[in-house]
Amino acid sequence: MTDDLLTEVTAFAETVLAPRAAEFDRTERLPREIITRMAELGLLGATVPERWGGLGLDPLAYGELTEVVGKACASTRALMTVHTSLVCQTLLELGSRRLKEKYLPDLARGTRLGCFALSEPGAGSDAAAVATTYLAKDDGFVLNGHKRWISFAGIADVFLVIATDNGVTSAFLVDRDTPGVVIRPMSGFLGNRATHIAEVLLTDVVVPGENLVSSVGAGFSFVVNTALFHGRYSIAWAGVALAQAALEQMCSYAAGREQFGSPIGDHQLVRRMVADALTSVTAARELCRRAGRLCAERSASAAMETNVAKYFSSTIAQRATADAVQVLGGNGCWSGYPAERLYREAKILEIIEGTSQLQQIMIADFAYQRYARKNKVAP
Ligand SMILES: Cc1cc2nc3c(=O)[nH]c(=O)nc-3n(C[C@H](O)[C@H](O)[C@H](O)COP(=O)(O)OP(=O)(O)OC[C@H]3O[C@@H](n4cnc5c(N)ncnc54)[C@H](O)[C@@H]3O)c2cc1C
Repeated sequence: MTDDLLTEVTAFAETVLAPRAAEFDRTERLPREIITRMAELGLLGATVPERWGGLGLDPLAYGELTEVVGKACASTRALMTVHTSLVCQTLLELGSRRLKEKYLPDLARGTRLGCFALSEPGAGSDAAAVATTYLAKDDGFVLNGHKRWISFAGIADVFLVIATDNGVTSAFLVDRDTPGVVIRPMSGFLGNRATHIAEVLLTDVVVPGENLVSSVGAGFSFVVNTALFHGRYSIAWAGVALAQAALEQMCSYAAGREQFGSPIGDHQLVRRMVADALTSVTAARELCRRAGRLCAERSASAAMETNVAKYFSSTIAQRATADAVQVLGGNGCWSGYPAERLYREAKILEIIEGTSQLQQIMIADFAYQRYARKNKVAP
């Protein structure tokens, strides 16, 4: 990544996003000019190679930009997570040449937006339980089903839809304007409020055969796993972003607010929260960097290290943002300061892209595989 790009994105984040993040949260809307600027900066195709219209950044550089944007506005960062990480990366890695030619340049340039439609009323953590169906017909497929909580479905042009045919799970790119696609906007979320979350109803939606992503049956093992791997990497950096914002907020406030005749930042119990936030955000950032390096090397351990980074980062973000609310006291509970919004946004990270419990299960499975044999306990 060039220094110029980092400088430009930082300036955009600090002068445009941060001052308007509360407005986006309140109005539950990400204005089109923000999305256009994200596209102009190349952020919507940041990791896509230049020959497909992207910036061709490596995972580490992309992660650093995710932190910069996420520190300023969680909903804007979510556009990178969904569009760039979940959709573009998956299409890049698993789409046929024809499918990439059809969609990737527009997606990478941000002239079309993508979203990822996996969750359903009956399929959350248990993603394999999707009930949306597809049926091969003529040269294509017919989809029926109900997707829920789909970020940016309210404004996206293309949906990466996961569906099943009697347990054989496959993935398809579905154009928004296909007959039978109905979008029902949702509101009232704890965080990510400006991400245009919606339900997607599919009734006899005919999808051309070329819009199959990868192959029949690859929906879960390849497409969902690839998408969530990239999504988790992005969420790990999002946790660093929120924790860093919380740290800066609590330091600034603690230095200026006086109680009992001195700045509250002088009180040891407040200093402990500041010290814990600094330590944990530093550790989380290093885990993210480590995951990024492993992703760049295409290491076999990249997925597990990304799970570790996502789990740790979202956990410490929750803690640091809660402590920021604590340090700000009553002001921490009021929307006149960003602390309460950071706190709400951090909680979301423990739910999306695999809940913390699901991360714990996967990490523990890995730990047993790697370490149980070496330390056999005598019967
Ligand atoms: C803001 C937001 C944006 C979202 N955007 C998208 C999107 O763009 N696309 C999309 O497809 N989905 C999206 N989702 C849905 C999200 O992926 C799901 O909410 C998430 O996967 C959890 O599923 P669930 O809500 O059904 O919870 P459930 O799976 O019902 O889980 C509820 C609780 O039970 C726990 N639990 C479940 N199974 C186990 C187990 N085996 N062991 C231990 N604990 C368990 C979970 O950890 C959790 O604490 C979004 C959700 C939110 C809140």
